Amino acid sequence: MYRTFYNSKVSRKEIDQEVELVGWIKTIRDFGAFSFIDLRDRSGIVQLVIKNKELIKGLGNEDVITVKGIVNLREQPNLKLINGDIEVIVSELRLLSKASLTPFIIDDNTDALEDTRLKYRYLDLRRPLLQNNLKIRAKITQIVHTYLDRHDFIEIETPLLCLSTPEGARDYLVPSRVNKGSFYALPQSPQIFKQLLMIGGLERYYQVAKCLRDEDLRSDRQPEFTQIDIETSFLSQDELLEMMEGLLKEIFKEIAHYDLILPLRRLPYLEAIDIYGSDKPDTRFDLKLFDLDDLLRGHTCPFFNEHLRGFIVNNYAHKCTRKELDRLNLEAKKFLSSGLYMIKKENGEIVSSLKKFFSEEIVNRLNQNLLNEGDVLLLGYGPYMKLSMMLGAIRKMLGDELYLYDKNSFDLLWVVDFPLFEKRDDGSYTSSHHPFTRPKEECLAYLDKDPSKVLSNAYDIVINGYEAGGGSLRIYDKNIQNKVFEILGLSNEDIKRKFGFFIDAFNYGTPPHGGIAFGLERLTMILAHTDNIRDVIAFPKNLKAVDMMSNAPKSVDENQLKDLGIAVTKND
Ligand code: ASP
Repeated sequence: MYRTFYNSKVSRKEIDQEVELVGWIKTIRDFGAFSFIDLRDRSGIVQLVIKNKELIKGLGNEDVITVKGIVNLREQPNLKLINGDIEVIVSELRLLSKASLTPFIIDDNTDALEDTRLKYRYLDLRRPLLQNNLKIRAKITQIVHTYLDRHDFIEIETPLLCLSTPEGARDYLVPSRVNKGSFYALPQSPQIFKQLLMIGGLERYYQVAKCLRDEDLRSDRQPEFTQIDIETSFLSQDELLEMMEGLLKEIFKEIAHYDLILPLRRLPYLEAIDIYGSDKPDTRFDLKLFDLDDLLRGHTCPFFNEHLRGFIVNNYAHKCTRKELDRLNLEAKKFLSSGLYMIKKENGEIVSSLKKFFSEEIVNRLNQNLLNEGDVLLLGYGPYMKLSMMLGAIRKMLGDELYLYDKNSFDLLWVVDFPLFEKRDDGSYTSSHHPFTRPKEECLAYLDKDPSKVLSNAYDIVINGYEAGGGSLRIYDKNIQNKVFEILGLSNEDIKRKFGFFIDAFNYGTPPHGGIAFGLERLTMILAHTDNIRDVIAFPKNLKAVDMMSNAPKSVDENQLKDLGIAVTKND
């Protein structure tokens, strides 16, 4: 027997009793006549008291030991520990495994470089913070399983080796040895399969599914990630969203003890862009965008003919110096080369590099009608969409930097009614979601006239400014599907090659269906209050998609390539 208790579970109830414990040595502190060991296991830490120094001769941090001892009430409790009021006086100690000196100290407050932590991930994983994140992740999937089971969903696994799926990112390819020259694609999502399951009559499907997308990585993106993937037949959009809200309610209640007020707000996409400059708005704080055309029109200004939009930040005038504006512009100009301008009210005066363009009347209007002392109006000009997105990005940046919301709060909403298509610069169309998304009934007439006006039955769940999930109702009418393919510029040949088998399936009786996929990592990040996706994955890749432990990806043996009929022509 190794243990009679988890370390953090030993409590006052066990005083004067003998316990057996096991774990890693976090620290040894020598006090001459006796020593203290902080012993760590998955549950937490317990303090051991060693009176017989012989027992710990040669021991060091991260050694695995098992001990026997008597629980004692501490004279000076350690308030930082759950069981800081007790300690264990050790009578027997056995070394189970000796540890070498670790490359970094195992503690939540670490200054080790992330690449070092990823190289020794098994050590990094000993940090309580990461263990807690993984516990949250496991709890979410456990709630998902019980909730969806209760609502008649069937868990079904779909293949990893398949034909390319339509999420629009680059595929990871797997060469086939048996069919040389042919490749499988790893699924970007189980999209096609889950729809085929609906045609297959399964009615309600879900899966905790691995998805693989060969994209440039960011702090919230990994090449492989996990979706809680869901599809149902015979539900309206409202019924589906309501059911998903129920699931979110249970997750937030159980994990964060947070009561979601249902139904969640539904914000049409066009409004989200107009007010927040984002299709995933963080609505924990205000800073709403508005049009300035009316206010500033009628004066000589270089951007007279453009859209003019902006937002007001209170109590920011003293901070918003030239230098600060230059800093904001580093971000703003990624969206719009004309950048960001400011007009502020300081000591009762309007201050701005634009002031020279304004008539006295406009200065008065800004001063008397719009700005209060300390206010800054951040504004820009340009095409409506790019301008709004630019302002939205700065809005979010300032919201975070100026602490305009409570970090521990949660804000959930649905963004709905996305446009079905996005227009590329060359005038062609791509799907905003994917080509199987159902247009809104009332927009069908626009499919022929002006596809950019067609709205869809697509929805995203947005939490604290993250897109935590998204989905849509699907087209189940062949004519509409063909029309959409046509607008996307797909020839019959393309359609046959890419998803011929899938389109064929629609000939045999297709139920109205739709679904959603939640990003498990994003949900976990939000609930664990981290903005680094690698903090919620046991073995993540770094920003160059490298597994720092094994150094994958790596070159392979000539023979392996020969078997596959592949020759590598270029190495990095
Ligand atoms: N497959 C979609 C995605 O990964 C989700 C869905 O439409 O259900 O975004």
